Amino acid sequence: MRRSVILITLLSCLSLISSLHAQLVVIDPGHGGPRDPGAAQLGVVEKAVNLDLAFALEKYLHGFGINTAMTRTVDKPLSLSARARYAGHFRQPTLFVSLHYNGAPRKSAHGIETFYHNAKSRKLAAAIQGELIRVTQAENRGVRRGNFAVIRKNQAPVSVLVEGGFLTNTLERRKVADPAYRKLQAAAIANGIARYLGKPEAAMIRFSTPREARIAALPMAPRPRHAVRPAPWAMIQH
Ligand SMILES: [Zn+2]
Repeated sequence: MRRSVILITLLSCLSLISSLHAQLVVIDPGHGGPRDPGAAQLGVVEKAVNLDLAFALEKYLHGFGINTAMTRTVDKPLSLSARARYAGHFRQPTLFVSLHYNGAPRKSAHGIETFYHNAKSRKLAAAIQGELIRVTQAENRGVRRGNFAVIRKNQAPVSVLVEGGFLTNTLERRKVADPAYRKLQAAAIANGIARYLGKPEAAMIRFSTPREARIAALPMAPRPRHAVRPAPWAMIQH
């Protein structure tokens, strides 16, 4: 009897310690609301594909046992400063990832790029970019320092902004319009984050070839109980 009490106490202490050290990734689906659709071309609207990518990323991160919070989970406006402040609502935000797709007047522009602002965030940007390019084989526009308010003013110690492709480029738009491609991108971003956080190689989401991975629907991990939902008050202060 006494032994089981000790065991229960020990287990609850261990779970408390693990929750104190839990890693929290804040996911920011770019744009939102009627006035800020982001880049949009022939029915592919950035704010919607950003959100879809964010949900897929959330599920893959949960598969790694990484907690998540999202700046928005519906199509609603949210200011850049509210997004940047969002991580400050959590005790231990580990990192922040803003998800975007690109647009350009020059229709031939295509490829994927990942931005960081503070030097500390470069390593995460490189890990995500490396995984994205490896699995999508998209044009590598590189890891770049970007002066975007959402990462410049971010309250998370490490923050990056991913531009997953150009909606103004016909071929890339067709890819991005395919939910299987977005799932593939989400898995790649999750692998990049997991690598950055030091998860073992054996835990990485596996791909055969990019083509096969795109066609095969990748299994999505069930949502763990420790998932962090966005705080409603954090969604309205802007
Ligand atoms: Zn955008």
